[in-house]
Amino acid sequence: MKIDTENATVAGSAIDPHLRKGPRGYPMLPGGYGRSTYYTGAPSPYAIRGEGCRVWDDRGQKLIDANNNFTSLIHGNVHPEIKAAAVEAMSAGSSWGIPNLYEWELAELLLNRLPGLDQVRFTNSGTEAVMSAVRIARASTGRDKVVVTKGGYHGTSDLALVPGGPGYTRGVPQGVIDDVTTVPLNDIEHLTHVVESAPTNYAAIILDLLPNRAGLVSVSEEFARTARDLATKHGIVLIIDEVISLRLGYNGLSGEYGVQPDLLTTGKLIGGGFPVGAVAGLGSLMAEVDPTRSGNLPHGGTFSGNPVSMAAGAAALRLYTEDQVNRLNDLGDSVRQTVSKSIAGLGWEVRGRGSLLRAVPEGADKVAEDIQHRLWWATYRRGLLGSPANLLSLSTPMDDKVGAEIAEGLSAAIADVATAR
Ligand code: PMP
Repeated sequence: MKIDTENATVAGSAIDPHLRKGPRGYPMLPGGYGRSTYYTGAPSPYAIRGEGCRVWDDRGQKLIDANNNFTSLIHGNVHPEIKAAAVEAMSAGSSWGIPNLYEWELAELLLNRLPGLDQVRFTNSGTEAVMSAVRIARASTGRDKVVVTKGGYHGTSDLALVPGGPGYTRGVPQGVIDDVTTVPLNDIEHLTHVVESAPTNYAAIILDLLPNRAGLVSVSEEFARTARDLATKHGIVLIIDEVISLRLGYNGLSGEYGVQPDLLTTGKLIGGGFPVGAVAGLGSLMAEVDPTRSGNLPHGGTFSGNPVSMAAGAAALRLYTEDQVNRLNDLGDSVRQTVSKSIAGLGWEVRGRGSLLRAVPEGADKVAEDIQHRLWWATYRRGLLGSPANLLSLSTPMDDKVGAEIAEGLSAAIADVATAR
């Protein structure tokens, strides 16, 4: 197949990308998709090319990319410095079976932003980072159970699927489900009761401070602090999952809260657009995966810490200065304000924090998938690309003018959906 990126067409292929059928590609992927998370309720356009904060697709649409591969592309598409770093690393070899020095560079940049944490271990995804963090917590405490918040999303490992509820746990063994206690978000009494009634059962409390699947509602500072205090009191490991939220503060969102995790999981932006995940933590816990110690936990991953992800990630972190973090968060606040004003009375609201935004029907904690998909297509038609669950994330190539375009596109799309019969 030859993809003409200049003209955004697919040539020399038996696929008709518009009909979404043909002997190659589409019928070979379940449902036509390489990832279930792409699904928007109808055959999807295909990305052809990106540049800065724009993406061109095979239907001839030029879109503002506010999906950013599910928030990973903090500097948008093909940032010249990230591209140069990745090409330079790749030119010397794409991965090896001995360590590479780019791992040090990214570790140093990341740990500089997480002053309370000592060491980091890289993985290939956020899913793997959370899996590893939970394993470390279980091994170090000798306990099995973990506490999560209702609706939280922590990737697609067996354990991480449990907070999504029964709809997500087909195929997950009952034993795994039984080891996960789900508490309602921001219900301090419930959290306290769960932990205090069996404190020595719990290895970890896992918190995402701005959980998207739970409706992009912020965890209250009091709830986060209660989790921290309970964990400290009972020797439980507090894992803060910053796979998405790291972008919201120079020291991550936990830094903004002033709540110190024992282990912090992250991913997305720290790979500069390449596959990545990381667990950062206290030295006493990270020692569990130290191969020089006897009885250490197995941790591998053929591509963990590969030089391309590490070099691109280091460039991305270096470019995401404190000024850029603040500028992007301010831009997000201003888009949220503009949209909130223009959709007043339509029964919708725009939630989020800083550079992450999401429109939902007023007061909703769970939005029906068909409504999410209707809004996705309405924004798409207005030239704005969000996630299928309508999460919009900003990137550093966006300026006030692009912010205004996003606000206009999102407001119009919400009006389309709110007034449709
Ligand atoms: N944790 C959180 C909070 C996430 O948002 C995600 C992915 N969106 C993950 C974990 C899993 O990361 P990945 O998709 O890289 O496996």
